[in-house]
Amino acid sequence: MPYCQVIVDIASEDVDRVFTYRVPEGISVCPGMRVHVPFGRVARMEGVVVEMADACDLPPARVRAMTDTLEDYPAILPELLELAKEIKRTSFCTLAQALRLMIPAQMRGERISVKTREFAVLAVDPAVREQVASSQRRAPKRERVLRALMEAPDGELPVEELRQRLGDCRAMLAALSKMGFVRLERRETMRSPYGAMERLAEKDPELTAQQEDVLAKLLPAVEAGKGAFLLYGVTGSGKTEVFIRAVRRAAQLGKTAIVLVPEIALTPQMVMWFRSRFGEDAAVLHSRLSPGERYDEWRRIRRGEVRVVIGARSAIFAPLERVGLIIVDEEHEQSYIADNTPRYDARELARMRCEREGGTLLLASATPSMRSFALAGRGDLTLLQMLRRVNDRPLPEVHVVDMRRELAQGNRSVFSGAMLAGLKSCMDAGKQAILFVNRRGYSTFVSCRSCGYVVTCSQCDVSMTYHSSERVLRCHYCGQESAVPTACPECGSRYIKYFGVGTQRVEEEVRHHFPEIPVLRMDNDTTRAKDAHETLLSAFRRGDARILVGTQMIAKGLDFPNVTMVGIIAADAMLRLPDYRSAERTFQLLTQVAGRAGRADSPGEVFLQTYDPEHYAVEAASRQDYRAFYEEEMRRRRRMLYPPYTLLARLLYEADREEDARREAECALRQMEAFFERRSYLNKFVVSLRAMACPVARIKGKSRWQVTLKIVDKPICQEAVGKMSEIAQMPAAGCACVCQVNPGSMI
Ligand code: ADP
Ligand code: ZN
Ligand code: ZN
Repeated sequence: MPYCQVIVDIASEDVDRVFTYRVPEGISVCPGMRVHVPFGRVARMEGVVVEMADACDLPPARVRAMTDTLEDYPAILPELLELAKEIKRTSFCTLAQALRLMIPAQMRGERISVKTREFAVLAVDPAVREQVASSQRRAPKRERVLRALMEAPDGELPVEELRQRLGDCRAMLAALSKMGFVRLERRETMRSPYGAMERLAEKDPELTAQQEDVLAKLLPAVEAGKGAFLLYGVTGSGKTEVFIRAVRRAAQLGKTAIVLVPEIALTPQMVMWFRSRFGEDAAVLHSRLSPGERYDEWRRIRRGEVRVVIGARSAIFAPLERVGLIIVDEEHEQSYIADNTPRYDARELARMRCEREGGTLLLASATPSMRSFALAGRGDLTLLQMLRRVNDRPLPEVHVVDMRRELAQGNRSVFSGAMLAGLKSCMDAGKQAILFVNRRGYSTFVSCRSCGYVVTCSQCDVSMTYHSSERVLRCHYCGQESAVPTACPECGSRYIKYFGVGTQRVEEEVRHHFPEIPVLRMDNDTTRAKDAHETLLSAFRRGDARILVGTQMIAKGLDFPNVTMVGIIAADAMLRLPDYRSAERTFQLLTQVAGRAGRADSPGEVFLQTYDPEHYAVEAASRQDYRAFYEEEMRRRRRMLYPPYTLLARLLYEADREEDARREAECALRQMEAFFERRSYLNKFVVSLRAMACPVARIKGKSRWQVTLKIVDKPICQEAVGKMSEIAQMPAAGCACVCQVNPGSMI
């Protein structure tokens, strides 16, 4: 008698093991299938079969029967089942949590279903049809229905379309179906997210010599189904074309490919490129899909109707078989790391999938992460380089503008004289410009010039941000709003002012200086609506606007041939963040933004305004010199013992009362110390181990404490992190805890 071993869809540690069920007669089950099973007092619980067994140790009376299957195919492929087990091992989560990553959220709990459409199909042979049609003269409506079907290709039409053309004909169709003239059928349909998309040129460009060279190394690896590469290619070097050719080769070999891009770069433009080159063979997964569209894309992939999947981080779980190539574009992006449980790094999972499934891994960036470039230096990744732009277009010329000098000269406006002049000559030349602001809203915070009071959120320990369109202050952590004070709540002074620069402020200044020029603004406020991204970007591409003002979301991946000038308002804003990666992030962002200029035939010019022109990140970015930055940054990381030389991990405690968070953190600290003591690692490998209040000590009313660990990057790290996650599983009541490894942010 067959049995199946099931993981039930409960995240709890207590049930993180398989349960055995009997498979009733007439039901066929295999690993990866989703099933309903009785569990405890619950009659129907969803679960996933992870193994089959012929026998069972338990007495038969104690083994319950599974109820039924949710689909008649395994929703989770064997490769992804294995990947889930790997995630459980490395991310310290339950198998149920890891399995949840593998299917669209809406499929759980059956919140989404297959969409169907009813078709009317002519059921008799043509000679009879003709006869029927002509003999029904006295029933004109019936005749019209039959005629319509006869004229339709394959003699069939959706019932909905018949209704639109001929009015309600349901009863008529029912009668015709009874008489055997017509068959009514329900068929699955797919919701398509590619409705009204403009299509770009579909012809292949001739490859540049650099692209040829890179492909000459890459394609043999794709053919052999192995290899891990890092493609370092400056902005505008034509990396996308390399991706397209490599994906196509994989497809020719009967294999499939995944292309990961940061969500923010998953622009309609990118989607369009792939759709115009791969048509129906491409599926796209991004956050703007409706649940129905997402489910249908997932099913198209699962059924093998798709050769290439393009998507953000979670597309690494695409249910593709025969994966021959995984590309991670802009591989330096922080967004490849999932911060919630289960925590995973899509780049690591990409590597695992490639190794397990016989695929080639290709990481690519104009500003590779420190870690990847270091791996390439050690030979763990094969380095491929494209150091020149397509057609030897020059990299943009970067002017660094020292804003301290501007201030000293009495210029208090957003724009330096140099930037304003550059913008003017760009406009005079009839070109387009992008102005990049590394912030959101009108200004960052409101403070009193007399006493220094800063308006902060009552729930979180951060300053509130002023939004000039709504004239409110909003907390960016919890969303709480409040009115702007007219006098200082501390000292009563009326000199309460907005500081900092935001996109709205820049837009206003641009309109002031260039009243005739149409301007577009792109930030979180203007892109809330569905398709707003698309609309704004196509308007800019069409030339409806000449100046685009925006935040991070315009920094990457965009390719506008007419843009010759890029202005960066506050290049060093990020350098002040309390994060060891702030130099790296600044360099990446500046290089990426500068790379938007001069991508076609006219050379580009970049104006980079900063209060810190001597900083090596700013300096190297202004020369677009990745290597120089890399070397300097690695020296600093080694000196300060930061990753990749060490590993950082923290336990983050949150509680209503500060003393609870603090007590738990201190208790965890003692446990960690004891753990290291026992293994006498403390002086050998541990660089620092401390408990303290978080830099942002309160968010959404919860007090936050942390235990931070810095440890030399050696195999013992895994053991230490394992211990930390174990501790994280058991915080006292009223206290929440997560364990984070190299967390994306340390606030
Ligand atoms: P990257 O991603 O490396 O910054 P892109 O892939 O966006 O660069 O390419 C930059 C520009 O060069 C794009 O407009 C692209 O269409 C164009 N391009 C790429 N390869 C070629 C080629 N072989 N011939 C002509 N134009 C190309
Ligand atoms: Zn005051
Ligand atoms: Zn808040």
